[in-house]
Amino acid sequence: MSSAVLPTYARQDLVFERGQGAWLTTTMGERYLDFTAGIAVVALGHAHPHVVAALTEQAGKLWHTSNLYRIAGQERLAERLCAASFADRAFFCNSGAEANEGAIKMARRYHYARGEGDRYRVVTFAGAFHGRTLATISAANNPKHLEGFGPKADGFDHVTELSLAAVEAAVTPQTAGILVEPIQGEGGIRVMDANFLQGLRALADKHGVLLMLDEVQTGMGRTGKLFAHEWAGFTPDIMSLAKGLGGGFPVGAILATEAAAAGLTAGTHASTFGGNPLAMACGNAVLDVILEPGFLDEVTRKGLLFKQRLAELKDRHPNVIEEVRGQGLMVGLKLKPAVSEMVVAVTAEHMLAVTAGENVLRLVPALTISDDEISEGVNRLDRAAAKFDGRRG
Ligand SMILES: *Cc1c(COP(=O)(O)O)cnc(C)c1O
Repeated sequence: MSSAVLPTYARQDLVFERGQGAWLTTTMGERYLDFTAGIAVVALGHAHPHVVAALTEQAGKLWHTSNLYRIAGQERLAERLCAASFADRAFFCNSGAEANEGAIKMARRYHYARGEGDRYRVVTFAGAFHGRTLATISAANNPKHLEGFGPKADGFDHVTELSLAAVEAAVTPQTAGILVEPIQGEGGIRVMDANFLQGLRALADKHGVLLMLDEVQTGMGRTGKLFAHEWAGFTPDIMSLAKGLGGGFPVGAILATEAAAAGLTAGTHASTFGGNPLAMACGNAVLDVILEPGFLDEVTRKGLLFKQRLAELKDRHPNVIEEVRGQGLMVGLKLKPAVSEMVVAVTAEHMLAVTAGENVLRLVPALTISDDEISEGVNRLDRAAAKFDGRRG
């Protein structure tokens, strides 16, 4: 299996040729039930007809003009995302890491524009994941991601304990913001307590720092609300988005209040491809579907159904499944056997799932998945788990 592709991923030997909803077909004609959705990217499933139509229509008209000119689809998507959220402004880019980099820059410039340029530090959390650029690996402080890449970027203060006292202790007169995922995805589907998140909001207000949410994975309906922080009833100052935003087309965004965004004036930040007409056609089409009345309630209902079925699975396989966690269709199974072995067993059942930290099997299917497909997924997980039943936990 030699390949000219740089082997930065431990890839499985599967090549998919086409997809439909929650199903993928390999070049060998074998079908797989997809509970990864491209790691929470293909929010509406593969080849959703509304998104395909929007993209192909745009592809025949105009691909790219640069942000030197107004882009109609960008203005429309910005307005719709702001109308549906706390935000007044949107900046479009191409990935989650780029969105987080921009969010960090925005927070620094906010203070700089107010004459407090020494306020540049950001408080971040153990178990976090914010991307793979030099700044975002330093923000997350995962030693595996930092090793060998030279000195850490300055400007991040890490809190190892999820307590408000620990956060307050980390906030100094140099703090520009606090950056947190409402649910840590890569970290192991670790759901942040609503009281903790509300407490961060209060701390940010008390100390005049900006609260930044990384909703790259949790946003765009994944948890059953358009944005996960809505469950906790508070709003951030800045939020990063990507993954589900384009339904599979690469696009990221920073959303912010007018006040928080005030430092990013003309010439201070840019992205060549950011918010180009193709990406915006996909983003607007995805939003059309997610904002349809009842869509998000269905995500919540299916998420509860899925978790209930997984709780039954845990009872049947007590030596295999330790805990079911998550919200909406962002679900994790904390396992007793190595999660990498479970991924192999699940793949053998022609189902796709992805690992996360803390030995968690991550299950993030398309938001459009049906009840029957959820049942089928649970049956396949049941058969995969059975291979480990005899082992000691
Ligand atoms: C995936 C992810 C990122 C990084 O996104 P990329 O598009 O890979 O750069 C950042 N933050 C969170 C929470 C993510 O899940």
